[in-house]
Amino acid sequence: MKKGKGTNAVHAGVKHDPSTGAIMTPVYLTSTYAQEGVGNHKGYEYSRTLNPTRHALENAFAELEGAKYGLAFASGLASMDTLLKVLNPGDEVISTDDLYGGSYRLFTTVFANYGIIFKFVDFSDENAITEAINENTRMIWIETPTNPMMKITDIASVSALVDGRNILVCVDNTFATPMLQQPLSLGADVVMHSATKYLGGHSDVVMGCLMLNDDTLDEKLRTLQNSCGAIAGPMDSFLVIRGIKTLHLRMARHCENGQAIVEYLSGHEKVEKVFWPGLKDHPGHDVACKQMSGFGGMVAFTIKGDNLKTAHKFVEATELFTLAESLGGVESLIGHPASMTHASIPKEIREKVGVTDGLIRLSLGVEDAEDIITDLEKAFQAIS
Ligand SMILES: *Cc1c(COP(=O)(O)O)cnc(C)c1O
Repeated sequence: MKKGKGTNAVHAGVKHDPSTGAIMTPVYLTSTYAQEGVGNHKGYEYSRTLNPTRHALENAFAELEGAKYGLAFASGLASMDTLLKVLNPGDEVISTDDLYGGSYRLFTTVFANYGIIFKFVDFSDENAITEAINENTRMIWIETPTNPMMKITDIASVSALVDGRNILVCVDNTFATPMLQQPLSLGADVVMHSATKYLGGHSDVVMGCLMLNDDTLDEKLRTLQNSCGAIAGPMDSFLVIRGIKTLHLRMARHCENGQAIVEYLSGHEKVEKVFWPGLKDHPGHDVACKQMSGFGGMVAFTIKGDNLKTAHKFVEATELFTLAESLGGVESLIGHPASMTHASIPKEIREKVGVTDGLIRLSLGVEDAEDIITDLEKAFQAIS
């Protein structure tokens, strides 16, 4: 039966427990499994290889993205680490210049030492991507919308650009979630999420996942997952299964709050610029309308004057917003990318993409929009 996205979120991957009828997937806190005879078991041998709770979640991950396969890892970066290990020394990766700080660090300080070559280009410029491709290119790493500038990459056109060339198109879909954007249906080969964020949704777990359709690549990834061992644990898997059940409801509210807060900020005398793909003057707006079904609850803006002191004062003056790294939970978080999430990116590079000292990032939660606005207004008053 073909189901809607909401129905899918509630039921994805979950079967009633055959031994008790429990409707929630049990947390299988076990490292190993009894074998009736040598090699005669029920599909589980050792929990690094597979655990029933993680198995249910991996199926849920696949269903959410409309994928054949899903794999769960100890963190978003662990999932990327495993995926990058399908590459060999000399292989090249092309990535967007406005990238999550931890991804940039993994590329440039870890995998660069193993002979993988990384090139960072502006993904809104298709010519720049074409120019960066050569016979060694094996992977294109897309993040859309980007963190924190909300830049949009056209997934379908990049996928079409490299079609038939032995280049994996991978999309970090953390910000949009499968409720708003499904990269595999747009031609991408692999979807990655930091499930720490919206999929988990309650700021209580760190996890990552990969979703894909290719049989050979799935086999390679499962071998790497088992060989390197950065797996998601059973308790964490349970929490994310529970989180996913309300993903559609939460995303609808995140989008509503995004719209309301962007309208408030856009009309504010102390705000210089607002970055949100739902804005008509956003450079990626047309592509966002084409590939996304909503614009989400991540919003960035610059305060007039653009200085570090004012920005720090602002993020420290909020009460409802918690000053914290991370995003995607039910509660609103505020952050200063230049000194928090993006501190590991050199100043010249981050400023070139727009992460200036005056930039503030909001992860809007699912609270009442009026209360969020009241809190922001109080912070504006504190800096005047
Ligand atoms: C948080 C995040 C990651 C890294 O995920 P972890 O779960 O923290 O390892 C990667 N990409 C994006 C866009 C993120 O927000």
